[in-house]
Amino acid sequence: MQRFAVIGNPIEHSKSPQIHSAFAAQEGIEIHYQRVLAEPDDFISTVNQLQEQGLIGLNITLPFKVLAHANCLQLNEYAQAAGAVNTLSFNQGDWQGANTDGIGLLRDLEKNIGLSLSDQRVLIIGAGGATRGIVLPLIEAGIAELCIANRSLSRAEELVSLFADRSQISACALADIKHESYDLVINATSASLSNQVPAIPAAVISSTTFCYDLAYANDDTAFMLWAKSHKAQGCSDGLGMLLEQAAESYFIWRGFRPETAALFPLLRP
Ligand code: NAP
Repeated sequence: MQRFAVIGNPIEHSKSPQIHSAFAAQEGIEIHYQRVLAEPDDFISTVNQLQEQGLIGLNITLPFKVLAHANCLQLNEYAQAAGAVNTLSFNQGDWQGANTDGIGLLRDLEKNIGLSLSDQRVLIIGAGGATRGIVLPLIEAGIAELCIANRSLSRAEELVSLFADRSQISACALADIKHESYDLVINATSASLSNQVPAIPAAVISSTTFCYDLAYANDDTAFMLWAKSHKAQGCSDGLGMLLEQAAESYFIWRGFRPETAALFPLLRP
């Protein structure tokens, strides 16, 4: 039986074993997919050990995505642009890194929710690891404008400087967000995890604005409740992104593209 794993700290909350086992069932195979808890000091040795034991693929989650990136011999274009890896494969001992977060977000927005991103004005709140992964795929989808607003301005500026050749991207502090509406507002902060809404002006929402929270929960997140209270056209949490990024990882490892639709009710009863 082929072996896979997800590594992070903490890791016990991860839904990846359930998701990937369901994908394997769709393919008609059985896999062994485990959660692995690591400390920063033993991350590399733990991954090498798993690989020596015959692991086929490894998902990387917080706080190891940047460390994994630094140790890969080969990177796909999304991992390169993000400076972070969430999907590892192995080639005769060498680590091969991919980043599927952005593709996952795009598939959820376009395929599951039905948005067209072409020529859209997009505001991302937050400039952490998740934002790094979604910038390039959003640009490739043909958006007209992207503003990255962050609590600490320097982090947003540093991220925007990585895309200096793209004229449509800018950075600003939360307090300096323009009081005008966007087509799509993405909450890529971890504020929802502590039931908070980032301090952003309600004017970014109009009746045609879609609001997307990368965080997910069984009930509406604080950001979704905020978007609804300001009459956004629609809103979603990031469960679809989670499923779609996992489907892309599975495709990288197995060459089989799973269907995600059947998994939504399983993960959000
Ligand atoms: P991260 O690297 O730790 O970055 C956190 C970001 O949130 C930073 O920009 C930080 O601003 C900002 N922030 C935190 N609390 C805030 C507050 N109260 N007000 C305003 N800004 C605040 O985290 P990450 O890896 O990017 O993850 C961000 C979110 O995306 C998390 O909720 C995570 O669960 C979610 N995520 C979802 C998926 C999915 O598949 N759905 C995948 C990846 C991540 P400063 O820089 O100023 O500290």
